[in-house]
Amino acid sequence: MTARGLYFSHPVCLEHDPRELSPHHPDTPERLIVLEHALAEREWLGWERRAAPPAAAEQLELAHSAAHVRAMRDLSAAGGGAVDADTFLGSRSFEAALHAAGGAVEMVRALLAEEASVAYCGVRPSGHHAERDRAMGFCVFNNVAVAAATALAERGLSRVMVLDWDVHHGNGTAEIFKASSCVLFASIHQSPLYPGTGPLEDVGSGEGEGHTINLPVPPGSGESLWLALLDRVVLPAAETFEPELILVSAGYDAHAADPLADCRLQTGSFVAMASRVRALAERHGAPLGLVQEGGYDSAVLAECVCAVMPALSEEEQVPMSPPAGEEGAALVERAVEHLARYWPLA
Ligand code: ZN
Repeated sequence: MTARGLYFSHPVCLEHDPRELSPHHPDTPERLIVLEHALAEREWLGWERRAAPPAAAEQLELAHSAAHVRAMRDLSAAGGGAVDADTFLGSRSFEAALHAAGGAVEMVRALLAEEASVAYCGVRPSGHHAERDRAMGFCVFNNVAVAAATALAERGLSRVMVLDWDVHHGNGTAEIFKASSCVLFASIHQSPLYPGTGPLEDVGSGEGEGHTINLPVPPGSGESLWLALLDRVVLPAAETFEPELILVSAGYDAHAADPLADCRLQTGSFVAMASRVRALAERHGAPLGLVQEGGYDSAVLAECVCAVMPALSEEEQVPMSPPAGEEGAALVERAVEHLARYWPLA
């Protein structure tokens, strides 16, 4: 194990461009171009670059219906079109989406083969809104869910954690794993905001009851509240769950500068979250893989990823959580109270 981490990407991810059909669409190829330029300037922070291969249909079908995979293939092959008011495929989008999901799958394979202990997928289109049977919210296939499902079905794991720190609720990931006790899904997200799902009361169903942790926060929420929810709810639940693999749906649209949402995180807030998750991963000997989701100010996205990657791979002090404000404190207590029936939360 020599590289600090593995970075997966593929040039075809730049060929998916929703602006072909929606001229002012915020999900631009420049988001990745600016990020990779910044990483190249920093010699990829000592991380090893690897090509994201395309996912096989059988892998996609661990998280999606065959009908959905076919529909996306056919829409792209026909030259593209709109799936809904936000989600567009062009002629190369299916190929891009195959490599985005395949990158996440290959990342998990490499992590479980102990080729590195941390990895990052710099891919697009994003994934966390894509449900079993439909694309939505800029997402075609649910990259992180396909990767988690592969770890469970093909690699024999029984406990995978998915932390979603994108500012939007990861409704697709939640839907795909809602009845599973093999995936602990935890999401901190702004509410109200697209897609409108993910109330605290939605804890999953059947065998999966309690294994969905939804932590909505109001517009204007900042670092103290986000870190308090991690420290008081997500991390204690994860300690009990004992993950064998930790995946992060890593969006940066909760940053104060992001144009699509109203949270107030700073670049250092993502470093603080990454440090905590890395420490969790180390305590459990679990490899840690991040998959790119949202983040619509390209310069801020690049700044955040360039700050997060070193926090994943180097020894650093885990910053202590500043005290939550009064409104935040009440919200945290409500979340602790609600979820303490499933997890030993103090
Ligand atoms: Zn988002």
